[in-house]
Amino acid sequence: MGRAFVYVILGGGVAAGYAAQEFVKRGVSHGELCIISGEPVAPYERPALSKGFLLPEDPARLPSFHCCVGSNEERLTPKWYKEHGIELILGTRVKSVDMRRKTLLTVTGETISYKILIVATGARALKLEEFGVTGSDAENVCYLRDLADATRLVSVMQSCMDGNAVVIGGGYIGMECAASLVINKINVTMVFPEAHCMGRLFSPRIASYYEEFYKSKGVKFIKGTVLTSFDLNSDGKVTAVSLRDGSKLPADMVVIGIGIRANTSLFEGQLTLEKGGIKVNGKMQSSNASVYAVGDVAAFPVKMFAETRRLEHVDSARKTARHAVAAIMEPEKAGEFDYLPFFYSRVFTLSWQFYGDNAGEVIHFGDFSGKTFGAYWINKGHLVGSFLEGGTKEQYEAIAKATRLKPAIEDLVELERQGLGFALTA
Ligand code: FAD
Repeated sequence: MGRAFVYVILGGGVAAGYAAQEFVKRGVSHGELCIISGEPVAPYERPALSKGFLLPEDPARLPSFHCCVGSNEERLTPKWYKEHGIELILGTRVKSVDMRRKTLLTVTGETISYKILIVATGARALKLEEFGVTGSDAENVCYLRDLADATRLVSVMQSCMDGNAVVIGGGYIGMECAASLVINKINVTMVFPEAHCMGRLFSPRIASYYEEFYKSKGVKFIKGTVLTSFDLNSDGKVTAVSLRDGSKLPADMVVIGIGIRANTSLFEGQLTLEKGGIKVNGKMQSSNASVYAVGDVAAFPVKMFAETRRLEHVDSARKTARHAVAAIMEPEKAGEFDYLPFFYSRVFTLSWQFYGDNAGEVIHFGDFSGKTFGAYWINKGHLVGSFLEGGTKEQYEAIAKATRLKPAIEDLVELERQGLGFALTA
């Protein structure tokens, strides 16, 4: 025997929180909706884990960053779910899904049935072991994906004051953790194989700005190489890391941010997968009409690029979740999802936003020695992407609007001359 619900959200992260809010806005009845999460807490704004959560003074702690405070909306505490008759089944992993019977089996042996399933299982951090390096289970080696990881990272950091940290990976997690470690008075060396940081998004010129800024804060960069092994002491703690270039770095702690993989394993062989995620249509519906997918695990059609993409960013998690619920509750009214990709990050006193796609030729503008600068990406004669550091709310809105319009660009020199002014008048 088990419980039965009309709607089940599998996963209790960002997308789950925003989906729950949308269900309530659209009048879901008490007892119809349940969220099953492997995490022991109600949905929260995951980006806080690499920002406010790691601050040495007045750090962010739950319940302050439950969804949906990241969008300046109401904070959905466990009490909120209770008041709205939403069942939160926390600290419970689902180990299998039977789509024919429309049931989920939890690790505790409970069977939960659904009429409509929303898959919001997000992603997991890639482990060094998947690249043939052993030892990343040592107690002073940290990954960062969930609250348990962040709590552990804080305690390792607190035992390393004035010590040396090695950060492996130059993407979002590496960059944000490196900044937090510096703020916690830890000496940081970043190691990554690419020629510059944030290689999937930044142009070399943009990356150089951030690397110089980080260097001014004391961060060292070792690029073009990877970690090959750990030195461990008799307590099993890492004391140094060896790199492929032959160097060895002393380490009191190591933080690893080498990418993520979407949590699709429950659905392999049951749903169509694409781009490492669950393929969905413009209503977030998978190849099984009763199953929707949202957030990091969903590969959805990005209309403006006429392409299926899987995005690993919080804005897309929030909006795909809301759209799926709209499509489920009011199918005749909900159109096709029409999304402008949006990413952002905040480190030290810096803050940037990016909209669209970083394909094609890049045109930089603004003052790279000052506070505000940016770039446009021009692909096949159209502006398809915009980046801005240090902008105002109005300026960010302007680059978002200009990017959505995808204007034709004939004269790149003129675009460079106009710079931010182009977006402000588009
Ligand atoms: P998640 O929030 O990862 O939630 C997935 C949930 O599913 C988890 O609760 C997990 O436990 C649960 N789950 C998975 N499998 C099972 C199972 N079998 N049974 C039960 N439960 C299961 N994006 C930005 O745009 N800007 C940022 O600054 C930014 N900062 C970030 C900082 C950090 C530290 C991290 C980790 C991510 C950051 N992101 C950022 C990315 C953003 O947080 C994700 O895109 C977003 O969380 C995706 O939401 P989701 O609901 O799809 O997945």
